[in-house]
Amino acid sequence: MAKGFPSGVERSELLSNCESELFFSKLRAKVLAHNNVHPNEKLISLSIGDASEPIPQIITSVMEQFAHGLSTREGFSGYTTHHGPESLRTQIVEVLYKGLGVKPSDVFVSDGAKGCLARLMMMFGSAVTMAVPDPTYPVIPQMCNLFGQNVIRLSSKPDGGFFPDLSNAPRTDLIYVCSPNNPTGIAATREQLADLVSFARKNGSIILYDAVYAAFIADGSPKSIYEIPGATEVAIEIGSFSKLAGFTGVRLGWVVVPDSVVFANGKPVVSDYSRVTLLVAPAGASNIAQAGGSACLTQEGIEELMKIIEYYKENARILLNAFASFGLEAHGGLNSPYIWVQIPGRSSDEVCDEWLERAHVLITPGDMFGPSGEGFLRVSAFGHREIILEAVTRLKAIYPPM
Ligand code: PLP
Repeated sequence: MAKGFPSGVERSELLSNCESELFFSKLRAKVLAHNNVHPNEKLISLSIGDASEPIPQIITSVMEQFAHGLSTREGFSGYTTHHGPESLRTQIVEVLYKGLGVKPSDVFVSDGAKGCLARLMMMFGSAVTMAVPDPTYPVIPQMCNLFGQNVIRLSSKPDGGFFPDLSNAPRTDLIYVCSPNNPTGIAATREQLADLVSFARKNGSIILYDAVYAAFIADGSPKSIYEIPGATEVAIEIGSFSKLAGFTGVRLGWVVVPDSVVFANGKPVVSDYSRVTLLVAPAGASNIAQAGGSACLTQEGIEELMKIIEYYKENARILLNAFASFGLEAHGGLNSPYIWVQIPGRSSDEVCDEWLERAHVLITPGDMFGPSGEGFLRVSAFGHREIILEAVTRLKAIYPPM
């Protein structure tokens, strides 16, 4: 029992079903326990999915200029629309969805992907069923719990390319898919996505396609679900500047809700999304962040950002080579900042504790991403190069050269 004056207000039952505190507090407890036992050992974290490299100046200088402009009569601007400025929506379409049937009016600029996902779920309400791959971004099943939605986990195993087996999947109203997937680091192939779109069309389902890591894709796999014919009628796509541009703190994202995605009663989903966005996020994203987003999408901006994405991917290659030399099978990392390491015969938690104790390296145990994540570890390639190299050196204490 916490201290304090007891009110007569009952806690929401939906929150009791939401394990988010558990997920984060478990890792935090491991770190605290480690630091108590090893106060002089500096912990290296390969656990976090947060950008580590500075935002290119070509982008921050535009934000700086915009911020200074706010102190002038000419440069001042107040509320932005809940939809986001047309110029930025047009740029998003021109740069990221050219020729894919997406219109600027389908795009809503927001404060990040997580907010978009929450607003979408709020809009769909508690009566819908939602399928999620297992393992997946753990926020999603927890959000479903929060909004009272029934979640069905679709196991995604190595032999299926870590994509759910749709031939055995039940019909649900919504299907969340993230590609490249967090945590497996695998990008869905064109064939897998074509199957997904035809599955959704056959069942009258709507796909929520999370493409926040799309910029990491380098092998020709689709960067957008709209590369698949027929997707504009059944899919909503979520994007973000967080991993594209290191905007995890700046906060900027978007969602594409094509007007051809409609409810069972024939009404376009986009009208309701617009309404929910107006009510819940009346002013859209920060105008300073939007100025930065616009700078990201210039040709020079994209070139600078791709250098940073390459840097993270080089980190991933270093880690992949190390795991191969340790005799560990590792997936992902080629189209993604995440590596999914297989540890047959051992539990994720046990190996996480071993790496922490013996190498002072923290990773995320796979079971935190769903039951099918048991027996895997998620290793993040976000981080300064020297940290990644030091982690590899330390892990050699556990995996001496054969
Ligand atoms: N979707 C996935 C799969 C993520 O991994 C994350 C963050 O780690 C997000 C969405 C949230 O992105 P944003 O920072 O834009 O809210």
